[in-house]
Amino acid sequence: MNESRLKIAVQRSGRLSDATLQILERCGLKINPSKNKLITHVKNMPIDILFVRDDDIPGLVMEGFVDLGFVGENTMQEVSLQRAKFGENALFENLIKLDYGHCRLSLATPEENQYINIRSLEGSRIATSYPYLLGEFLKKEGVSAKIVHLTGSVEVAPRAGLADAICDLVSTGVTLEANGLREVEVMLRSSATLVQRMDIAPGPDKELIARLIVRIKGVIKARESKYIMLHAPLDKVDAIIDILPGAEKPTILPLAGSDKQVAIHAVSTETVFWETMESLKKLGGSSILVLPIEKMLE
Ligand code: ATP
Ligand code: ZN
Repeated sequence: MNESRLKIAVQRSGRLSDATLQILERCGLKINPSKNKLITHVKNMPIDILFVRDDDIPGLVMEGFVDLGFVGENTMQEVSLQRAKFGENALFENLIKLDYGHCRLSLATPEENQYINIRSLEGSRIATSYPYLLGEFLKKEGVSAKIVHLTGSVEVAPRAGLADAICDLVSTGVTLEANGLREVEVMLRSSATLVQRMDIAPGPDKELIARLIVRIKGVIKARESKYIMLHAPLDKVDAIIDILPGAEKPTILPLAGSDKQVAIHAVSTETVFWETMESLKKLGGSSILVLPIEKMLE
């Protein structure tokens, strides 16, 4: 392996894989997505992508085997606690909080069980894949409970008689509901994050990382933004600009053959709701278009 190539770890197959590859591709990396290989060389940049289990990403970053990793904050925190407990290096740098992989680490109990507050779990058995985060949370709350460490199928543990409650990742809550469980405490809110190993020396790697960061931020910003175009009566321009969501310095253009109407073009950094479009129309706006933005560099 060529040592001067930047190494980035991504989840091989799972909830973060597609969104991570999409963001890298939008950053201009030409990736041959043969996920069966552990490593793929990016064709147009000095970057290698390593496809691994998400649980391995924090360790690979902290040990310096890879330069960057795309991983859930939940996984990062769990592995950090575990490594710190065993006296291993748990240092890393959080570069960007990403706009996908949103979930929460929550406690849930069977619907039929009475739950008043966290004290209700005193002396119970709680199944989880996050023993360190759960241990820390229980310690902080002053609750003693038995942690049942399972690496999968945590949500079926109460029905299987293995536990009285669970601590697991939730996004919509559908899985909990399907298993007769009720979310009772949110321990942590998480999203995907880009992490970096600690000791990257100034040089080509650092410069490449800085460029990538700018591009990733641009991709996220573009995803959140919209390009709005509309025609407006000249005397309503100020009122219309006032209600354009998150739009700074719009462009005002003359319309051919009309001295009472202009075109307004603006980048909105917020979601444009139907209600906003209806208000624009009420103010005399017409031909209102809201377009997605592909790339953005500020
Ligand atoms: P691997 O095979 O790589 O170990 P996994 O089964 O441990 O995969 P996934 O279920 O693919 O992991 O989840 C990866 C990450 O996606 C989680 O650590 C979390 O950050 C995020 N995530 C977002 N929503 C959810 C959810 N509803 N349930 C689980 N994880 C979620
Ligand atoms: Zn995993």
